[in-house]
Amino acid sequence: MAKDTKHLTKAFGSAVGDDQNSLTAGNRGPVLMQDVHLLEKLGHFDRERIPERVVHAKGAGAHGYFEVTADVTKYTKAKFLSKIGKKTDLFVRFSTVGGEKGSADAERDPRGFAVKFYTEEGNYDLVGNNTPVFFIRDPLKFPDFIHTQKRNPATNLKDPDMFWDFLSLTPESIHQVTILFSDRGTPATYRNMNGYSSHSYKWYNDKGEYFWVKYHFKTDQKVKNLTRQDADAMKSKDPDHATRDLYNSIKNGDFPSWTLEMQIMPQADAKDYRFDVFDITKVWPHNDYPPIKIGKMVLNRNPENYFAEVEQSAFAPSNFVPGIGPSPDKMLQGRLFSYHDTHIHRLGPNYHLIPVNQPKNAPEMSYQRDAFMRTDNNGGGGPNYWPNSFGGPAPDQSALEPPFAIEGKADRFAYQHPNDDFVQPGNLYRDVMSEQDKTNLIGNIVSHLGGAQKRIQLRQAAIFYKADKNYGTRVAEGLKLDIKQVEKLAAMSQEERAAETAK
Ligand code: NDP
Repeated sequence: MAKDTKHLTKAFGSAVGDDQNSLTAGNRGPVLMQDVHLLEKLGHFDRERIPERVVHAKGAGAHGYFEVTADVTKYTKAKFLSKIGKKTDLFVRFSTVGGEKGSADAERDPRGFAVKFYTEEGNYDLVGNNTPVFFIRDPLKFPDFIHTQKRNPATNLKDPDMFWDFLSLTPESIHQVTILFSDRGTPATYRNMNGYSSHSYKWYNDKGEYFWVKYHFKTDQKVKNLTRQDADAMKSKDPDHATRDLYNSIKNGDFPSWTLEMQIMPQADAKDYRFDVFDITKVWPHNDYPPIKIGKMVLNRNPENYFAEVEQSAFAPSNFVPGIGPSPDKMLQGRLFSYHDTHIHRLGPNYHLIPVNQPKNAPEMSYQRDAFMRTDNNGGGGPNYWPNSFGGPAPDQSALEPPFAIEGKADRFAYQHPNDDFVQPGNLYRDVMSEQDKTNLIGNIVSHLGGAQKRIQLRQAAIFYKADKNYGTRVAEGLKLDIKQVEKLAAMSQEERAAETAK
């Protein structure tokens, strides 16, 4: 029956006669319980908000497609990458990380860069950031790290002491801190930033050979950033500036695009490379693993309803397709659990049935049944167990990941080569940044770190000094710290430095 869109109904379809005046006992009397329309309307409104994402709460999204531009079949058997010219639908969500859902788009923060490919072999999600590295490299540290970027439990205020105390006691963060406090920490818009997988992943081909890979989505709009002063002005002028920019450019037919470049490492290289290639605080130098252009991502359609498509979108790095799998990167291993788990909390166990999350080009054929909000036919009368002899869907061995070797003892290992933590941020500061980039970086750090206690400033300045003497000295000068003290702290081990600067 065609839907009657002209007449207002209650949720279950019966007609509403009056939507302006509650049912009362007499002209001025109290409202009656039997105004079931009012009760239903208020009851639904009271439950409109779903839990906010604990990270990446503020975001914007769009639909588009990915097109393959190079032959990568010798590296992966993923079908959506199998042919030059092949196009796959996708949905993307960009976000800030630490702020609440109503926070400003121009905050200094990494930007989330999550892509859902609706492939014919199921959904493939890539959940990246606009930075190629991350603050920490073990998932045990993640909840603590995020607490320090959020609000102080007593004051409910952002707290520079918490922020810098943790980072200065976690020196592996220095590379990401350097990128975050450069002007790349405040991208001009979502269209003007790159997206990186940050993690390494595994690609494997139809012969079972595998490779380690990193993804780089390079913006075709050019990288453009806001200075600290511009970002501060933007926060009050238009707190939603990046959301607005993305929506309006797509609405006006100016479709943003990104070129996907891959770094591909032969499997054997990982063993003896000069640092641990699975350590997410490190990049793979372009000279050793030159990025190869393999495709184009275009965003060409706005969501029709923000809540339905953006707020309810749910990405999980555990959503792989045959030909792609995880690397041993410990942060990635933690995220394989945490993303799916948080979506079950936020959206419920059947969040895969929400249209934006459905594997629309490869229908679900699982034996999962029931649970809250099962909105399809729940498998109908078909078998709900495996193995069965009633024609239910069967596992397909061609979907198996090739076996891979593992060695060693089970233990709690720290990543090796901790001194390497200072090499890449030092290179970034010395060799990549222009004089203007460096000046802005130092200014951005000084204005933020200046809010923390002196002992924390000293400890963090020593970390900058370890990355590069000029870098640390300029931060110390900006904060009016005693450079001799900074040098002394920089020469100490991490444990000695922590003890020396303890309260
Ligand atoms: P390259 O000189 O080949 O790479 C430098 C890269 O740095 C550029 O390609 C660009 O990456 C990025 N970049 C440019 N300006 C800035 C900036 N102001 N802030 C942050 N990144 C910037 O050398 P390497 O590959 O040996 O890397 C040197 C350093 O560059 C690394 O230690 C790392 O800090 C940084 N870097 C390296 C990346 C990599 O994957 N190798 C990626 C990004 C940064 P892009 O084109 O991706 O914007």
